[in-house]
Amino acid sequence: MALIVQKYGGTSVGSVERIQHVADRVSQSRRQGHDVVVVVSAMSGETDRLLGLARGIRSDADGRELDVLLSTGEQVTIALLSMALESKGCPARSYTGAQVHIRTDSAHNKARIQEIDGARVRRDLADGKVVVVAGFQGVDESGNITTLGRGGSDTTAVALAAALKADECQIFTDVDGVYTTDPRVVPQARRLERITFEEMLEMASLGSKVLQIRAVEFAGKYNVPLRVLSSFQEGGDGTLITFEEGSMEQALISGIAFNQNEAQLTVTGVPDQPGVAYRILGAVAQANIEVDMIVQNVGADGTTDFTFTVHRNDFDKAMGIVSARAEELGAREVSGDPKIVKISIVGVGMRSHAGIASKMFEALAAEGINIRMISTSEIKISVVVDEKYLELGVRALHDAFELERAPAA
Ligand code: ASP
Ligand code: MG
Repeated sequence: MALIVQKYGGTSVGSVERIQHVADRVSQSRRQGHDVVVVVSAMSGETDRLLGLARGIRSDADGRELDVLLSTGEQVTIALLSMALESKGCPARSYTGAQVHIRTDSAHNKARIQEIDGARVRRDLADGKVVVVAGFQGVDESGNITTLGRGGSDTTAVALAAALKADECQIFTDVDGVYTTDPRVVPQARRLERITFEEMLEMASLGSKVLQIRAVEFAGKYNVPLRVLSSFQEGGDGTLITFEEGSMEQALISGIAFNQNEAQLTVTGVPDQPGVAYRILGAVAQANIEVDMIVQNVGADGTTDFTFTVHRNDFDKAMGIVSARAEELGAREVSGDPKIVKISIVGVGMRSHAGIASKMFEALAAEGINIRMISTSEIKISVVVDEKYLELGVRALHDAFELERAPAA
């Protein structure tokens, strides 16, 4: 018998029928003898609907009142799920975040969990009840309702699992696990049995939107075994996200992530002097634009070139800022391209194997794909290529690294 925290996302509780189905799955775990805490999101589309209502009143709606509003979505689903469980003969109790003391800081709309007092939850579990907790919300020191940022229910589940020292935190979603890459791009993509926290963080931040990044960070920090499972298909093992172990799959790389939302900016002929990177990129950062990859060329003839990428939505704004700075600095030219994508290969196996980068470049060259930028970290190699090469590039890499085949143990 184990203590399991199960989280069901918006689609999984998107209708009364689906809530009934979730209640069946939860009762099943109960019948297997486990103690179960369930965290739910709002019904799919509900948080957006509430946001829309708020924006109808003021376009810049944020802060305290928005949290009072947004937190209601999850209050609906905890009540409905508890009713469904009770009607199936499975005793259950629902709680809002505040009721189980999910204490956060006061950063409305993006609060961070600081502390959870699990006493009430433990008491109900000891009484044989299933405890159903509203995801995505908490309460600050002064009793104000807070929310954790979009997708925050994953973080609620992981934080509860950590506080209760649960044996596993299971995230039920509309996919049956984490794949080697997006199956819509590569039909042969394979579900991974396991992936490390580190790899998952890279995959998540690179655009595989299976889990909220913060939840993965939290799980890694508190060593909560995390499993991604399908809420629609039964019997699968999903993907376990865990620490690296000797017995893990011996793959060179575990997956291929891509990001279609980037844009590239280049400044050429900038004076090669101290403070130039700061003047250009500092201005961009000050406008709250996040910069991803940055490349500076070796200087020649007293000048140098910079290339960097930003989110595509920030492209025009960034071009404006950079053009103004470039003129002040006497740079030769500013150019930009919003039609680029970033493709990354990710794997802890890279740490102990040489030649991964050249294999990646070889595979792209064989398809005639020009690489515009390269960046590497310990467990990741990313390239920027023209948008039109996205699918071809991802497929070529999936083939080259034979990701469709499970690695030998
Ligand atoms: N309902 C919230 C959202 O849509 C939280 C969540 O689903 O995790 O972002
Ligand atoms: Mg969600």
